[in-house]
Amino acid sequence: MTRVVGIDPALDQRTRESIRAIVDRVVVPKAAEFDRTSRVTSDVLDEFSAAGFWGAVLPESEGGTGTGMEAFGELHEEVGRGCSSMRSLLTVHSMALYALDRWGSHAYREAWSSQLVAGRRLGAFCLTEPEAGSDFTALSAFATRDGAGYVLNGHKRWITGGQLADILLVFARTDKGPSVFLVAADQPGVHRLPVPEIMGTRGSQLADIVFENCRLGPEALVGHEGMGLPIATGVLDIGRFSVAAGSVGILQACLEACVSYASKRRQGGSLLRDHQMIQQAISTVATNTRAARLLVWQAGKLKDRRDPDTIMATCIAKQFAATSAVSAANATVQLHGALGCSDEYPVARYLRDAKVMEIIEGSTQLQHVLISTDACQNRARIVPID
Ligand SMILES: Cc1cc2nc3c(=O)[nH]c(=O)nc-3n(C[C@H](O)[C@H](O)[C@H](O)COP(=O)(O)OP(=O)(O)OC[C@H]3O[C@@H](n4cnc5c(N)ncnc54)[C@H](O)[C@@H]3O)c2cc1C
Repeated sequence: MTRVVGIDPALDQRTRESIRAIVDRVVVPKAAEFDRTSRVTSDVLDEFSAAGFWGAVLPESEGGTGTGMEAFGELHEEVGRGCSSMRSLLTVHSMALYALDRWGSHAYREAWSSQLVAGRRLGAFCLTEPEAGSDFTALSAFATRDGAGYVLNGHKRWITGGQLADILLVFARTDKGPSVFLVAADQPGVHRLPVPEIMGTRGSQLADIVFENCRLGPEALVGHEGMGLPIATGVLDIGRFSVAAGSVGILQACLEACVSYASKRRQGGSLLRDHQMIQQAISTVATNTRAARLLVWQAGKLKDRRDPDTIMATCIAKQFAATSAVSAANATVQLHGALGCSDEYPVARYLRDAKVMEIIEGSTQLQHVLISTDACQNRARIVPID
């Protein structure tokens, strides 16, 4: 097995190895099935509950199972190495739990927090609409005041875990601007329409969700009316960080696949790994894996220190890790030749999953806009490392 080069890791060696072992035992053997059947199975969801993965976004001091965001990144890298669909479900669940914990009403925290931490109930994140994608300020979902509460109407698209989730973090306008609500998925007026086919993360059970005269109590409001943008910024930062870490997981999986295949396949009288162009391919994957992991590590460290630089560090990590994962997966399929195009090896799935990483939680183009704007505003300052 390819060794993971640790960078002063937050998780001690034994914890990291035990997470790796869970992913290898529980997730890796099922990932192809999840991809083929477009659904995950409850035994793996339960194993994540037993391992405390669902609550890792919250520290133990807040009732969660986590030990900080750097460690959260390491967990999401490992899960992403095994299966991007499971990592995607973990991402959106973590986003909903984070928002509930930070801005949710007392009543909702009492009702939902421990359930979400334990993974007995799952959360999803509902921002995108047919006409509001990268520009989510174009939201048209609307929550109208109704006595003390609200009536929600709107249409959300491409919701990861939308077929499974019990509670939905929903962005909708009110008279005071973009706002956020927590909506139980089984309440009247919530209609879920499964998305049948998607290129990558196929097991993450996407749904379109329509809210039709859905009545919400005042305690469903997250934060205050009009707080939608700061909440989106905070929650998307968590999602982006998870996707960056998951992309490092894809890179690591590609590296392991390349090393393994190039060490056994002979062509032209020698092993693939002894051909110089193959060496260049493996070298690029190895270098980008290490560089992406360093960027994720830095973003996680800054989060744990509550340093505002973490927002930009996360954009940079996500942009680099997602684009590198696509290039690495493309090279990995190439290195496997025809077998890379078949389902005998997982590498075609890596390529399809990696492409999704470039689109979700702020596309590559959007990251370039944000990174470039920051670089120009800050006159290309040097950000200290550590
Ligand atoms: C597998 C999957 C899972 C998803 N899960 C969720 C989820 O759980 N919750 C959720 O709310 N959404 C989810 N989404 C939706 C995702 O967040 C959006 O697809 C994404 O925000 C892009 O929006 P869009 O698809 O409408 O593309 P658009 O915004 O229409 O963009 C189209 C293209 O134009 C580019 N572009 C857009 N604006 C600019 C600009 N200013 N400058 C340069 N280029 C630009 C984009 O990068 C993209 O390449 C998911 C999508 C996928 C594919």
